[in-house]
Amino acid sequence: MSRLISFLLFALAALALTGCAQNPVTGKQDFVMMSEAQEISLGRQADADVRKQYKVYANPALQAYVDRIGQSLAKHSHRSNLRYRFTVLDSPEINAFALPGGYVYITRGIMAYLNSEAEMAAVLGHEIGHVTARHGVRQQSASQATNLGIQLASILVPELNNQAFHDVSNLLGGALLSGYGREHELESDRLGAQYLARTGYDPQAMIRVVGVLKNQELFDAEIAKQEGREPRRYHGTFATHPDNDTRLQQVVGEAKTLTVAAPLENRDEYLRQTANLSFGESVSEGVVRDNRFMHRDLGIALTFPTNWRIKNQPDQLLALSPNNDALLQFMLDPKPSGTVMEYARRRLGRNAKIEPIQIDGHSAALAEIDNTMLGVIYDAGRAFLIQGNTRTAQAFVAERQLMEDTIRSFKTLSAQEREQIKPLTLHLITATKGDSYATLARHSPLGPNAEQYLRLINAQYPQGEPVAGQLMKVVE
Ligand SMILES: [Zn+2]
Repeated sequence: MSRLISFLLFALAALALTGCAQNPVTGKQDFVMMSEAQEISLGRQADADVRKQYKVYANPALQAYVDRIGQSLAKHSHRSNLRYRFTVLDSPEINAFALPGGYVYITRGIMAYLNSEAEMAAVLGHEIGHVTARHGVRQQSASQATNLGIQLASILVPELNNQAFHDVSNLLGGALLSGYGREHELESDRLGAQYLARTGYDPQAMIRVVGVLKNQELFDAEIAKQEGREPRRYHGTFATHPDNDTRLQQVVGEAKTLTVAAPLENRDEYLRQTANLSFGESVSEGVVRDNRFMHRDLGIALTFPTNWRIKNQPDQLLALSPNNDALLQFMLDPKPSGTVMEYARRRLGRNAKIEPIQIDGHSAALAEIDNTMLGVIYDAGRAFLIQGNTRTAQAFVAERQLMEDTIRSFKTLSAQEREQIKPLTLHLITATKGDSYATLARHSPLGPNAEQYLRLINAQYPQGEPVAGQLMKVVE
């Protein structure tokens, strides 16, 4: 036999072993050129990448709680033989995703918006559904999967500004595959509902979770309008509210035949387990309190004008004026060259007006040209840049002083001040008569949209009010 033929025979044999895997969910033959062992090994490699990109949330009790609920669902899944691993990630993103082979992740970000154990179980059940239906590896050969990157089974499709997600996908080899599309999402909703019912939860919790995501989308549309940008879309393309989504109602409704008499909700238990959960940005990303941005690790603070909207992004910090006619950017150059004056001149050009100043005892330059103002501050070998731009010359005149004040507000923090920077956290309270979201928002650190944030985390968006005696979450 020639070497070519023996190679072909070998390839065919390999194909026969793994090529017609039986789909664990449908029982039909799927054309999957990957064995379960390959699938697990692929998941293990990608898990290492996820752990480089995200931090694991440092709360062993909460990790154990999520793992316990996840394992009980996995035991009732179509692939109970796999070893599942459930991990809470320290990320404010509203997300959950799964990797082939049984790796499931849920962010503390989404957990803040859930209101019962049944809802958390619905998120985990949906992700287990992606694993059991082999959405990550279906119709992909092993080599394709490793070369092109595997799909992260996300509960929502983060299409904008999701750097971590992009990075993970890039680490996996490029090709950001944005979610699974409507059919796979519906299949996972259907499987998740089944696993909920078999574990003793009400499968309708799946619809409530889709409602949580839908409300995020509606809220983001509200904010996007204020900011003049495109809104985000969550969980595929849901045109309608889940209450009116007949296909979703149908796939979840199928699980009704499996329900027990008194399904578990465990609302109070979930709220107690997630009391004191961090909310919003981690301290390591920098936090915003009353329009003051503070970064513990960089050891600096900057105060933005009141009512400007602050966006903390991985590579820069942005602030927008209330009527969107001015933008401030705060950036860091870890290796600046030349003097502050030379630096400012390089950035704004020959014709810029530049003066040397002192800010908080640091050597700095204040520069301006056309509708642009720039502050350059040298601090401990780093350059901090604060740049303001306005849409029009008229806006520049109007916002000039506020932009200069922001530049001059730069401060280095003492060790003690750094120590005092704490993340926002959830707190449980019992609503009393006369409580409203407006009164609760009055002393909230959540900024101008505090009222709606509080409604969202308590599942009373967009118009609900607290009911006396209700156990509820606030952010402090
Ligand atoms: Zn999904």
